[in-house]
Amino acid sequence: MAKKFYITTAIDYVNGRPHIGHAYEKIITDIIARWKRLKGFDVYFLTGTDENAQKNAQAVKEKGVKSKDFVAKNSKEFEKLCEELNLSNDDFIKTTDSKHVKVAQAIFKKIFDKGDIYKKKYSGLYCLGCEAFLTERDLVEGKCPEHNKAPKIVEEENYFFKLSKYEKEILRLVSSKDFIIPEGFRKEIVNRIKQDGLKDISVSRPGLSWGIDVPNDKKHKIYVWIDALSNYISALGYPSGVKFKKYWPADVHVIGKGINWFHSVIWPGLLISAGVKLPKKIWVHGYLTFNGQKISKSLGNAINPSEIISKYGVDPTRYVLIKDIPFNQDGDFSEEALKDRNNNELANDLGNLVSRTLTLCEKYPYCGNDDGLFKSLNLVKIGNYFDSFEIHLALEEIWKFVRASNKYINDKEPWKNEDCREVVLYNLLEALRVISVLLSPFIPETCEKINKQLGVKAGDLKTVKFGLVKKYNVKREGVLFKKI
Ligand SMILES: [Zn+2]
Repeated sequence: MAKKFYITTAIDYVNGRPHIGHAYEKIITDIIARWKRLKGFDVYFLTGTDENAQKNAQAVKEKGVKSKDFVAKNSKEFEKLCEELNLSNDDFIKTTDSKHVKVAQAIFKKIFDKGDIYKKKYSGLYCLGCEAFLTERDLVEGKCPEHNKAPKIVEEENYFFKLSKYEKEILRLVSSKDFIIPEGFRKEIVNRIKQDGLKDISVSRPGLSWGIDVPNDKKHKIYVWIDALSNYISALGYPSGVKFKKYWPADVHVIGKGINWFHSVIWPGLLISAGVKLPKKIWVHGYLTFNGQKISKSLGNAINPSEIISKYGVDPTRYVLIKDIPFNQDGDFSEEALKDRNNNELANDLGNLVSRTLTLCEKYPYCGNDDGLFKSLNLVKIGNYFDSFEIHLALEEIWKFVRASNKYINDKEPWKNEDCREVVLYNLLEALRVISVLLSPFIPETCEKINKQLGVKAGDLKTVKFGLVKKYNVKREGVLFKKI
């Protein structure tokens, strides 16, 4: 039986339209999901929308529309984005789904019944953008650094979760090098716990009109973060669903650095209390910047990914986002970089290789043995980069083989060199077939086109070797990438 692999993105707030930062997280998650499928894993890939946030109620007030309609309409935009990005997600969870609401309440009740939730009067600094209480330490010049706004002082009676009770277990968990990656984001969490310890956290908000009711107390809504985190198990049908039994615990939660604390500390705390197994890994990514500034709705510089995709195509968009954002850092997105990479790498390196090879193979016969081209393919190295989630390096390593194949065709000159032509063309066809398998997690639409022109079916990792296909049905069809 195939090994299971459960991977998730964070769920997005729907108080505005998707921006390119949302697209980035979905793409890197999709790449890992597709790679694992190539390796033969039984993959479940979840994404979705966080619809119970107070921000939605706020946005509704400003626009004078019904909350339900507003949320449903915006959620559709995010679902549409998943299609436009050519994601291979298996499900799309909405936290207004009744199956989710039931699970969020069940988890709350389970923790309450265990004695880990109590009521207390509380006063604190609340950032509506984060939907969270902040401490003085979180602020930069009196403002929330994520939202560049001063938090409000809020005093209210809330339910609290005994996070402090689980400090030792959580510290042990995050101290493991495997749990949070990359290392820099792990250290931040470890240091913060060691410095400040873990305090109990508020898990409800009183008097809200939007959100999920606290079980047996309709005056309170479940704090949106507690509700949102439980999407990862509600989507699988916790506690008795077949999918929950099959896929939980999550193998990886993919998240942005701004919500690391919620996923690496609070989520495990809730799960330990509720007696549910812990996720295996939290993969934290940096932020996309645009002209060096964080892209976000609240800063008003959001780029609409749908426009970029309709202008340049889905694969150039996916490609540039991976190339320009290294594993553990922020990266800058610009249309200039997209054009450069489209023209120089996708069109020149890959597009030309396919077009030159196929043109010759339509004219001349091909067959023969491995004559050394495959020496420049290092599958072990590629696999290792994927295993350590350094997908931009995996892509770079695959690209070395693309470049080596270009050099090979230039050096051998099969268009005029009859002596080696048959063998060279066969080696090139095999190279294209293998390149198409390896690039399929990154640029799946293009790889489908390559397969079609080669007359082969999409392969998995077992097919990444020389000499597997003897006979091709070559049929050239237009260019893969238009130059911009
Ligand atoms: Zn904030």
